[in-house]
Amino acid sequence: MRLTRLTAYHVRIPLKHKVRHASHAREETDSLIVRCELDNGAIGWGEGLPRPYVTGETIDSVWSLLSESDLARQLSEPFDNLTQAIKRTEQVQLKVADDKNSFVERGCFGNSARCAIELSLLDAAARSEGVPLSRVTELLPEAFAIRESKSQVRYSAAITAMSPWATAVRAWKIRLYGFHQCKVKVGVADVDDADQLRRIRKILSASRVDLRIDANEAWTCANLESKLAPLRPFGITSLEQPVPHQQVAGLAKLRGHLGVPLMLDESLCSLTDAHRAIESGTCDLFNVRLSKCGGFVSSLRLAALAHQAGLGYQLGCQVGETGILSAAGRHFACSVANIRYLEGSYDRHLVRERLTVQDLTFVRRGLAPALVGPGLGIDIDESALQRVTVRHWEQQPTVRQPT
Ligand SMILES: [Mg+2]
Repeated sequence: MRLTRLTAYHVRIPLKHKVRHASHAREETDSLIVRCELDNGAIGWGEGLPRPYVTGETIDSVWSLLSESDLARQLSEPFDNLTQAIKRTEQVQLKVADDKNSFVERGCFGNSARCAIELSLLDAAARSEGVPLSRVTELLPEAFAIRESKSQVRYSAAITAMSPWATAVRAWKIRLYGFHQCKVKVGVADVDDADQLRRIRKILSASRVDLRIDANEAWTCANLESKLAPLRPFGITSLEQPVPHQQVAGLAKLRGHLGVPLMLDESLCSLTDAHRAIESGTCDLFNVRLSKCGGFVSSLRLAALAHQAGLGYQLGCQVGETGILSAAGRHFACSVANIRYLEGSYDRHLVRERLTVQDLTFVRRGLAPALVGPGLGIDIDESALQRVTVRHWEQQPTVRQPT
């Protein structure tokens, strides 16, 4: 197999409603879609969502990163199978101009681009072999201890910052839909978190729904205990990223007496971050997200590392993921054991264009089946892709002439 064409699309997708949390509010998403074509005719797709407040990337910086990295040349060597395709994607070097950038030092700058490129090549390679993308979990030796094959998975619900009335309506919908887990965004200016959680708990009783919170870096190490104290009576099972990344080291001291397990998200974007978190004891759980963490394989490595260190992990998602990342997340969730909380597949509820022919949105109770077709197991709706494309470029590797 050999790459014959690589195409990148900057897409802008409107959301069905405004999504607000402590560090951002958005009504649309600027995302990167990558299409890769092999000489055997197989086509693969990938997606990445650059977020400046997570990995320091914007769609513009990702765009120049891609154009300047000569990817078609880097990926031009032939490969025989999915195992070799995994190796090939891990060798990709992105040309980062500013190496003083703290995200570069942490090894996460360009992760959304890495994710989009990686998924497209793995999708094409898995399609060529007639196996689902989840096979990657079986092929990665590091993931041996966390492998598990599931025929269906169960997603969590989420409540972002909204008015008391809208919160109650959302909580009722979550209850009627039969979800077993729900994440609530806290720390947003002008929102009384205790009041919101009381309202939510009245509708989603503790025996019915596991409730956790995400502060998106809104608090500080100095005020964390006082911010958390009024929320603890509502039976919270984890607190995600309470403080800004710059203060994350301070969590090591607080962790033991908060009474609620801590999860890292903005501070957990790379293997460097993960090793630091384990060594300094700053968390109990990792929030692994495919785009944030640089793709399927690096996310597997992070989950495996958490397992090895005796920590838990969730598979999270980013607001605005299309069916491509929903499918990739499904393959991950259906092949990895002990995922504490599972987020994603909000497609029909969140994005105006899901870009896939198949609707991957979870059904009642948050349930969704494993995808068993080759590769990602989805088909791209190319007219939908055209509707949302802002710009695109294409690279073809130079075919070396025999000498
Ligand atoms: Mg988060």
